[in-house]
Amino acid sequence: MSDRAAASDIIAAVATPPGRGGVGIVRVSGSDLKSFAAALLGKAPAPRQAIHARFRDAAGDAIDDGVAIYFRGPSSYTGEDILELQGHGGPVVMQLLLRRCLELGARLAEPGEFTRRAFLNDKLDLAQAEAVADLVDAASERAARAALRSLQGEFSAAIHALDRQLVGLRSWIEALLDFPEEEVDTLELAAASEKLAELRLQLDSLLRRSRQGARLRSGLHVVLAGQPNVGKSSLLNRLAGEERAIVTAIPGTTRDVLRESIEIEGVPVSVVDTAGLRETRNEIERMGIERAWAEIDRADALLLVVDAQVGVTPEDRAIASRVPGCLPRITVFNKIDLAKRIPGTEEGPDGTQVFLSARTGDGMDKLRKAMLAIAGMQGREEDVFIARERHLAALRRTGTCLALAATHVAQLELFAEELRQAHSALGSITGQFSTEDLLGEIFSRFCIGK
Ligand code: GDP
Repeated sequence: MSDRAAASDIIAAVATPPGRGGVGIVRVSGSDLKSFAAALLGKAPAPRQAIHARFRDAAGDAIDDGVAIYFRGPSSYTGEDILELQGHGGPVVMQLLLRRCLELGARLAEPGEFTRRAFLNDKLDLAQAEAVADLVDAASERAARAALRSLQGEFSAAIHALDRQLVGLRSWIEALLDFPEEEVDTLELAAASEKLAELRLQLDSLLRRSRQGARLRSGLHVVLAGQPNVGKSSLLNRLAGEERAIVTAIPGTTRDVLRESIEIEGVPVSVVDTAGLRETRNEIERMGIERAWAEIDRADALLLVVDAQVGVTPEDRAIASRVPGCLPRITVFNKIDLAKRIPGTEEGPDGTQVFLSARTGDGMDKLRKAMLAIAGMQGREEDVFIARERHLAALRRTGTCLALAATHVAQLELFAEELRQAHSALGSITGQFSTEDLLGEIFSRFCIGK
């Protein structure tokens, strides 16, 4: 157990979503649950065996009949003893069972507290713990797979690999500090600087993969604009229809009339339709529109749909001029099945142009490619880790320190100091260097029971 591990009281929570379901699960964790289990079930079950059990109240009467599994620490999710009680998934049964656990000395678990204990007991590092929440919240199959890869430690392993090399370089430079400056071999300095350059390349590649993962996590935000009847709805339907949309709602966002959530090759994409962004006196509609504009401020791309028979109209230009100028644009010339001349995909002065037909599906693959290119998602899927803004910021900080280090190779003290700071920035990702505030911030966003 690490020295960070807190003295542990017993915590309990309903781990399944509220409401009715086939099965509901109450989860309990504490340093020793033998007597707890015996009081609830009559006897403590053998570890790691599912047993059929009667959950009893204080008077010995049955609350529910279910399955109990006892995990003896440290071989458990939290690293402590865990008791998992699987009962009938009704809200009343679950509450009765939870209340009984509280009577037996448990307290209600805080959001993410099980995973927090897993982190404190070294079962997971911080990046893995975050991946747990990202897996639960994944808005697409691809995001779920990337989260699982991070949870299984691929992201952490890449960080550790970099970390080890950085430690190697640091100890090398710190050893050189013991020599008088004039005795330090210039060849040795050249070798150290070469090693540093290599590290920076690896960091860049890690940052690229993480950036894609962050996009996968938060989804791609696209603003759809165009005149009535150019085929915006048909296009959206075709995009949504051709994809295997498993989950369409992006967590944390409410679905409203102005927004559609679709999936393109596993990347969650939310599309805000500017057709709804008209002047209005209706208060509720106005609020919806304000939200949509706020969405546009953080959009990744503008999709301007025009009728290929007509081309871009002054009205289209007016809409396009209302969105931020730096927003990447794709102009979609729709209805090419009706148009006489059909050019290919070109990079125009106003961004990418794609020619397609929402009716026949011709050219749709080009649109998908263009959208994924904007998201920076054209690489191999296995390369992507789920990542958060926090990780990107830490990787960028590491990069800045390494860049500064590169300018100080001849001044060993400064060189060593920049390397030390780079190391600490990198270590914050996996929680090697973490503060109580950071942990609170991360785990409070988890659901109860996780
Ligand atoms: P919106 O008002 O921009 O959402 O346009 P709609 O998607 O409702 O389409 C307007 C009309 O154009 C409908 O009758 C569609 O069937 C038709 N339409 C949409 N896309 C195409 C296309 O690619 N080819 C042809 N021939 N018709 C299309």
